[in-house]
Amino acid sequence: MLELRSVSRMYGQGDARVVALNQVSLVVNAGDFISIVGPSGSGKSTLLNVMGGVDRITGGEILFDDQRFDLLSEEELTTFRRNRLAYVFQQYHLVPSLTVIENVALPMVFRAAGRDITRAWQMLERVGLRHRASHRPSELSGGEQQRVAIARALVNDPALILADEPTGNLDQASGRQIMSLFMELNDEGRAVVMVTHNLQLAQCAREIVELTDGRVVSRSTVPDRRLPSLRGIEKELADAAPGLANDNIMGVPPQGGNHL
Ligand code: ADP
Repeated sequence: MLELRSVSRMYGQGDARVVALNQVSLVVNAGDFISIVGPSGSGKSTLLNVMGGVDRITGGEILFDDQRFDLLSEEELTTFRRNRLAYVFQQYHLVPSLTVIENVALPMVFRAAGRDITRAWQMLERVGLRHRASHRPSELSGGEQQRVAIARALVNDPALILADEPTGNLDQASGRQIMSLFMELNDEGRAVVMVTHNLQLAQCAREIVELTDGRVVSRSTVPDRRLPSLRGIEKELADAAPGLANDNIMGVPPQGGNHL
């Protein structure tokens, strides 16, 4: 479905030049679930952004369904993204002035899908939040907001879901719920590529790709794909940052107060 051939992304010039991606080759097939891991600054977000066509590459080529994705104009890219891709971000990016159901239906409006928003209702039901349809995002917990964002991502039936630290702002129980949803969506045949720095959550994928200094240093299959136990996640945090384990397993403090 998606193929990156020797893709590079450089920023800046001369002494200020940064090589964010260095000749990365990677294939994503329908039904894949890939976790991208690596230290901070290793190029994970850049990789996701070039896959989603929100950042331009400076070398190599990208094919999506055998079409040269990197050569599309901005307008063509926007249409392509709307029809084939969905993004899920750490910060949810819901529109605060719209209700939950309006947020979920938003991509359908851009796609001129007409006035029938049945699918938006179905997707909201799918993430278990139909009863919250008329609420504003600020009235929901962080986990609920992320579920709304996922419903919105699904509304145009994307072939590929790109997720950048989707549980980064959530407590452990909400994070597990989100991961379980991604696993379910993947079991139905959707490809998922997820950036995470949490090695326990990375195990929810079928494969793990590790980046270092903008290069792929390993790609391994997850032998026993599973949702990690809460205890396992806590332990990872305790090892990394003793004393914090009971507060926030995802390593990033909730922003704007406690969501849950
Ligand atoms: P990660 O997601 O693994 O933390 P990033 O993809 O965000 O890494 O960044 C990879 C490298 O590219 C880093 O050195 C970062 O500073 C650099 N970089 C990312 N975006 C830009 C930009 N817009 N301008 C200059 N450098 C950037």
